[in-house]
Amino acid sequence: MNAESDLFLSCVIPVHNEEKLIGRFLQQLSAKLQEETNSYEIVIVDDGSNDCTVDQIRNVLPELPVRLIRLSRNFGKEAALTAGLNKAHGKIVITMDADFQHPIDVISELIANWRKGYQMVYAVQHSRVHEGIIKRTITNLFYRFLKLTSGIDIPINAGDFRLMDRDVVEAIKKLSERKRFMKGIYAWVGFNTKSITFDVGKRADGSSRWNKLKLINLALTGITSFTELPLRMVALLGIFIAFLAVIFGLYILGSTLLFGSHVPGWPTLIDIVAFMGGLQMFAIGVLGEYIAGIFSEVKRRPVYIIASEESESKIKNKVSSSQSDSQSEV
Ligand code: UDP
Ligand code: MG
Repeated sequence: MNAESDLFLSCVIPVHNEEKLIGRFLQQLSAKLQEETNSYEIVIVDDGSNDCTVDQIRNVLPELPVRLIRLSRNFGKEAALTAGLNKAHGKIVITMDADFQHPIDVISELIANWRKGYQMVYAVQHSRVHEGIIKRTITNLFYRFLKLTSGIDIPINAGDFRLMDRDVVEAIKKLSERKRFMKGIYAWVGFNTKSITFDVGKRADGSSRWNKLKLINLALTGITSFTELPLRMVALLGIFIAFLAVIFGLYILGSTLLFGSHVPGWPTLIDIVAFMGGLQMFAIGVLGEYIAGIFSEVKRRPVYIIASEESESKIKNKVSSSQSDSQSEV
């Protein structure tokens, strides 16, 4: 037991339809946090669950220092995390999943590294053995691509299991973009950062709440909000193809002058037209992605909407609310 009374710790947990796990998870998490400090809060963000998750959380409200933030619908994990970070009061804030895939015991290691002076400590999955080979390969490729093109080092396999101190949280709160890719945001803000590894557990119940479409969406957000390289690549490709077309045109001109005109050749023509058509659609698609990004920024809609906040204050050492509540719903 190395409890330190002056350390006020917040744990931010986004949840969506976790009725089977959440009660047990909160009990275990709370027991662990008690070992680490005398004063803590668990900020649980219900991301529009439509099962009994909220009732399960309400059951533990009287006994545990839990604050329940209910979003008005399912806004996605990135928005839920943002809401949680905005609402957390702690001197340090830990974010993690509720499905036991982020082992509760690793929290001690996160805190130990913070005590050594690191402002952000993130846990990297040792291996992704619980995921299929295709998902693993695509994830790896995605991170490599981002690392190569965005200029900022978004660590491969780092998830949302991390510890941040107040400075980092305040910096993240300043990034008000609507299309949120948290892993990129964490890396972008910088600070004195350390990584530790952990063995990712098997999901304790059900299956990943991300479906393939949501993952593809997140990947596209990651790429288009952190790198302009695709735009540049498309432009370069266009110039290259146009150059080839000019050479080819000259060749046709030359051969017509020398050997007369050839009627055959329409397959080549169709082929080229189709190829160019494809390329143009690709280029327009890439442009569209960025324009959609601009559109969602100019609408300036909030990232999330809070339906209600509930707690039965067991929370000691609440840091003066001036810091966190002032800029809550970005
Ligand atoms: N989650 C959420 N909103 C969503 C999807 C997931 O808040 O729209 C929560 C979920 O309840 C869990 C965490 O985010 O606590 C991670 O989700 P999941 O385990 O499904 O994702 P994976 O482990 O595949 O990354
Ligand atoms: Mg999970």
